[in-house]
Amino acid sequence: MDLKQYVTTVEDWPKPGISFKDITTIMDNGEAYKYATDQIVEYAKKVNADIIVGPEARGFIIGCPVSYALGVGFAPVRKEGKLPREVIRAEYGLEYGKDVLTMHKDAVKPGQKVLIVDDLLATGGTIEATIKLVEELGGVVVGCAFLIELTYLDGRNKLGNYDICTLMQY
Ligand code: IMP
Repeated sequence: MDLKQYVTTVEDWPKPGISFKDITTIMDNGEAYKYATDQIVEYAKKVNADIIVGPEARGFIIGCPVSYALGVGFAPVRKEGKLPREVIRAEYGLEYGKDVLTMHKDAVKPGQKVLIVDDLLATGGTIEATIKLVEELGGVVVGCAFLIELTYLDGRNKLGNYDICTLMQY
């Protein structure tokens, strides 16, 4: 299946000059959503993941069906102030200023093999912060999977030697 035909590009959103990749037109098509999920499930099997971790909000959309298909857990990464129990935090740079991501302290157990997922790899900042959180908890990042990679932003380089799977490249 050519998944790209289900991605909608929205020019100048959320700001002038940004060419936004909208994946809701994958999700609202049952066949396309299932196909995309199945590809990531296969990758998760290959890297032998025993838990899936995804940043809010689109990481949940990709990660939860993968967890369900494999019968493994899902641990959410959220913006500060959203998780109710004790958290660890990681700051990451945005274009202007910075943001904070958090995880529950017991979300990943030491030695667990973690697959990190999100909808899109841009500069890699979000995933770099997510990797930091997982490793602080003692998790072993066995792979990172995305529907889309914006190759011109070079996020892959920022992620160094981690194994990366992307279903579409722009
Ligand atoms: P990064 O941290 O620069 O790699 O940006 C990736 C994060 O921003 C992901 O969580 C994406 O959901 C979001 N993002 C950035 N650009 C887009 C886009 O064009 N479409 C959808 N999400 C995007």
